[in-house]
Amino acid sequence: MSPPDSQTQSADSAFEELRAAAESCTSCGLCEQRTQVVFGSGDPHADLMFIGEGPGAEEDRTGLPFVGRSGKLLDRLMGEEMGLTRDSVYIANVVKCRPPANRDPRPEEIAACRPHLERQLELIDPKVVVTLGNFSSKLLMDTRIGITKLRGRAYAWSGRALVPTLHPAAVLRGGGDAMAMVRADLVRAQMIVNRSTGDPSETEPAVVDLTELSELADVAGANR
Ligand code: SF4
Repeated sequence: MSPPDSQTQSADSAFEELRAAAESCTSCGLCEQRTQVVFGSGDPHADLMFIGEGPGAEEDRTGLPFVGRSGKLLDRLMGEEMGLTRDSVYIANVVKCRPPANRDPRPEEIAACRPHLERQLELIDPKVVVTLGNFSSKLLMDTRIGITKLRGRAYAWSGRALVPTLHPAAVLRGGGDAMAMVRADLVRAQMIVNRSTGDPSETEPAVVDLTELSELADVAGANR
């Protein structure tokens, strides 16, 4: 194996600096009740990044994102539909500290934590982002349209593709239909990664412009 070049070393050290800054962060009130910051885990050079909402109790205890039943399901579906393990992707959340009683993060908490996520995206520079669930999908796509209308497509977003899908917890609650939707979305995401890394046999799926969200917004009940 060839030694890492200086650009890679500098990106790695910037990533570790970011992790250290996040792990001592007190920029919002969520720092008061956390056990530890859940910065993210996986390969900081990954082509694929998953983004969820925020840590739950198990994540707060272990310091790792998407552990527990939802995480195990995500691991399984990633393996079955993409042939990937969590070590070969990057997994993070919109907020890095657990909201008490698993409530939704508040706007001021999201705003305070956003620089951590934006810097993670900048340094990892994934080809494809998969947002897990209503919350992170609506937030990153800056829309009020709900996940059931958003999913099923890939969108051009910040110079990469964004594939919104259901949260694994919704699959655990929702059964077969929800499971089939997530499976299809993960296949879609992997095809775009393959294409962007040079597999000429991958011609689909299309990546649509975010302006097409306005069409979805016209659909009755689009905010669910
Ligand atoms: S949620 Fe984010 S901004 Fe708030 S204390 Fe934790 S790391 Fe800092």
